[in-house]
Amino acid sequence: MSHDIKNYVAGQFVTSKKQFDDINPVDGSLVGRVHEADKATVDDAVAAAREALQGPWGMLTVADRTALLEKVADGIDARFDDFVAAEIADTGKPLSQASTLDIPRGSANLRFFADLVRSMHGERFETQTPDGAGAINYTVQKPLGVVGIISPWNLPFLLMTWKLGPALATGNTVIVKPSEETPGTAALLAEVMHEAGVPAGVFNVVNGFGPGSAGEFLTTHGGVDAITFTGESATGSAIMRAAADNVKALSFELGGKNAAIIFSDADFEKAMDGTVRSVFSNCGQVCLCSERVYVHDSLFDEFVSRLKSRAEALRMGWPNDEQTEIGPLVSRAHRDKVLSYYELAREEGAEVITGGGIPDFGDERDNGAWVQPTILTGLPENARCVREEIFGPVCHVAPFSTEDEVITMANDSVSVWRRRSGPKTCRAHTAWRVRSTLARSGSTPGTCAICERHSAARNYRALAAKGAGIR
Ligand code: NAD
Repeated sequence: MSHDIKNYVAGQFVTSKKQFDDINPVDGSLVGRVHEADKATVDDAVAAAREALQGPWGMLTVADRTALLEKVADGIDARFDDFVAAEIADTGKPLSQASTLDIPRGSANLRFFADLVRSMHGERFETQTPDGAGAINYTVQKPLGVVGIISPWNLPFLLMTWKLGPALATGNTVIVKPSEETPGTAALLAEVMHEAGVPAGVFNVVNGFGPGSAGEFLTTHGGVDAITFTGESATGSAIMRAAADNVKALSFELGGKNAAIIFSDADFEKAMDGTVRSVFSNCGQVCLCSERVYVHDSLFDEFVSRLKSRAEALRMGWPNDEQTEIGPLVSRAHRDKVLSYYELAREEGAEVITGGGIPDFGDERDNGAWVQPTILTGLPENARCVREEIFGPVCHVAPFSTEDEVITMANDSVSVWRRRSGPKTCRAHTAWRVRSTLARSGSTPGTCAICERHSAARNYRALAAKGAGIR
């Protein structure tokens, strides 16, 4: 049954005259009507967030503030099934993923940053002075102020709370703009914040789109001190330009075109399992997914053949079916984009090893946003399908013969598979050696599992330290 998804401003659930549909990508059914925040609603949210900085929230001790965050995390856990259902309705992802990754990580993120902030400390430097007396310089950490959080649709709750946790734990107030595709869990979180007694104005949610809508109103607003954004690199550029006028602090996590490398002495089965997981998880809609797979010449044919079988065996099913391994893309619009790349790959001369189209279910799922898991080979390194992020269940597999050659080709973030073959060569050693030689000279700045963990600390610092720039 569809329902209204409202904005949450100054502790109130706020409607709007303008609404848009939230569509379930599994079967195209209506999840809810989303109230789109207009400029006045965003202004109200910013005013409330500014006021809250001066109110009880600003007066809380670190212990009390982080205890409140823990209470919110408890509230999420108490409504676990509601959050899982909302995430599934918006994204179509399998229950097995939403219930073990997306929602548990949401409450864990809040607890993690509450813990981190409790152990936070400043720095002090002793310096010489000309008169010989010496001086002590020390840092005092204060909240930045009002932080705009703009989040994507692929891991809606996980990535929103990844930004929310550090911002609130360090004493900021926030205005969240969830993706227009996935507003459900942010609305539920507003209910949990309300019930937990988070003071009005500390946490606000404004729904809408980017340009000409809530996203732009937030990034151009003079009362917003910082923007933390996860999404496409092109959107990041637009936000950077919009935020420049007010010289806002920025924290970005952007797109990528990640490479996986399989060396000749890899543990074949583990490399295969890892590649299937890293290409097709979340229907390929993760910034860490491998869209380029480089396989040593000696393994290439066998690897492609086995990867084809594994891709064809992936079970595309209803989210609540325990057997389901892969869901739909997030929307029909995104499916059009992915299908346009499948078409482009053919035009660029790719061999389509498997997939390349839309599955035919013969039931309501045919109204959804499904695509076939797809494997491509035969493209040159400068093909657009090898350089541009597609963000679907697709990879291009290419052979290589030497480590130097593959480093040049990968030249970006990477996952590396190599079998432990003796006391002097272990997988981690090779991975780190190769990782350290990879340059960021690819088509887009990429991400990798290693960088991703570091980004938490980067994000945290960006919000805790006064100043502008991308960290
Ligand atoms: P997107 O850039 O289209 O949208 C992200 C958010 O930005 C949405 O809330 C959207 O409404 C908003 N937005 C769009 N244009 C805007 C504008 N001009 N001003 C202000 N806000 C605007 O990204 P998406 O399609 O939702 O997510 C997929 C992308 O996110 C992929 O590129 C993926 O690689 C990237 N991503 C990166 C990470 C990471 O940690 N590096 C994690 C997840 C996703």
